[in-house]
Amino acid sequence: MYRESDAKAAGGEAKTAKKTDPAPHINPYDSMLARFNQAADVLKLDARSRAVLSVPEKVVQVHLPVAMDDGRTEVFEGYRVIHSTTMGPSKGGIRYSMNVDMDEVKALAAWMTFKCAVVELPYGGGKGGVKCDPTKMSIGELERLTRAYTAAMSDVFGPDLDIPAPDMGTNAGVMAWIVDEYQKINNNHYYPAVITGKPIELGGSQGREAATGRGVMTTALLGLQKLGLRPEECRAAVQGFGNVGSFAAKLLSAQGVRVVAISDHTGAFYNPDGFLINRVIQYVKANGGTLAGFNEGQKITNEDLLTMDVEILAPCALENVITAANADKIKAKMIVEGANGPVAAEADDILNKKGIFIIPDILANAGGVTVSYFEWVQNRRGHYWTESEINDRADPIMSRAFERVYQAHILHKIPMRLAAYLVAVERVSKGLHLKGKY
Ligand code: NAD
Repeated sequence: MYRESDAKAAGGEAKTAKKTDPAPHINPYDSMLARFNQAADVLKLDARSRAVLSVPEKVVQVHLPVAMDDGRTEVFEGYRVIHSTTMGPSKGGIRYSMNVDMDEVKALAAWMTFKCAVVELPYGGGKGGVKCDPTKMSIGELERLTRAYTAAMSDVFGPDLDIPAPDMGTNAGVMAWIVDEYQKINNNHYYPAVITGKPIELGGSQGREAATGRGVMTTALLGLQKLGLRPEECRAAVQGFGNVGSFAAKLLSAQGVRVVAISDHTGAFYNPDGFLINRVIQYVKANGGTLAGFNEGQKITNEDLLTMDVEILAPCALENVITAANADKIKAKMIVEGANGPVAAEADDILNKKGIFIIPDILANAGGVTVSYFEWVQNRRGHYWTESEINDRADPIMSRAFERVYQAHILHKIPMRLAAYLVAVERVSKGLHLKGKY
């Protein structure tokens, strides 16, 4: 069995998220900084780059009065954080969730900077969010909230400035409202490249919906190769059955991996023979987007799923599901992080000592932003590609990024996560140096 210690480890899109944070005390920004600082230490990063990249460039907080269906006005808290524009306009999704707060958005924005750098996209990193429960709002309320948020951010967003996309709780429909509101604000000039993850009819890209799950599959297969495992002899447990989890499960299964455990916020299920993922997807579609009431397979808990004896564990739901409290119980040989921040920094050492091969979020889930980049390119050229043209362009980007990170992992004898940060931080700090001081 492969162990990190063998390498002498030194160190969209339809979303129905109902998020229940199992470890609300862990600050994702602290997790981000812990990993950034480790990479900065290995790189012997200069003091200026360390200081600049430790903090966001710009933080915008707004209060959005929205007329609710019952006649009340509710005031929602909204955020947009630009972590870095060194490598290009900031890129990053908008999350609607009751757990949105400044620290979460700041962490997610920094992860976007590093994610774009790992896959070498010409972007910096940003993220936005509104503290709300989209599952309890009507379509009209969501549209008014989205338009209010867009108006409040009209001087932040822009095709060459800051380009949002969907994230948990938002989808292609929300992106359509944003592109429309942005057009109204800008004297009817149509700027489709101001946002990605749009519906295909409004300039969205083929392949975007599956892109993040596809990247999870691509990097997981490369990870298996390095571990000397064949997909047909592997079992996977996938947490979360939304955009990322459902496509990751479907595409892994198409490669011969037996997906033996699946879950969402309503429950978790186990089937030792492997689920027929297309059937599960049909069930979820017909069932309002959730697994509630699913009766194929044995009912388990989300915690059982995480600690299951499988080759591949793919957390594709939320942050901090693996912490110091359960890291020691993880039995998977490999973790491929479809979600952002599913492993808290405090769990890193425990997992590394257990020899678990981790494909970190900033690499594993970068397939989504890669195809978002293609959407932006297509919007600007006014010329559109087929799904196979998209995949033919995206797959090699993910494979090359995996190999870059893997080589840094071998060369520096560090875990894959640290290697990914190293590759990213080195690239952004080079950009900072090239642009000079002022
Ligand atoms: P989504 O809203 O489509 O799906 C989220 C899924 O997680 C749902 O199935 C939900 O039921 C499930 N979930 C919520 N709470 C849970 C819990 N306590 N236990 C188990 N499952 C739970 O969101 P998504 O777009 O699939 O995003 C999931 C993660 O992937 C997020 O961390 C997001 O930031 C990240 N991500 C998404 C993309 C993308 O393109 N959509 C790209 C990169 C990263």
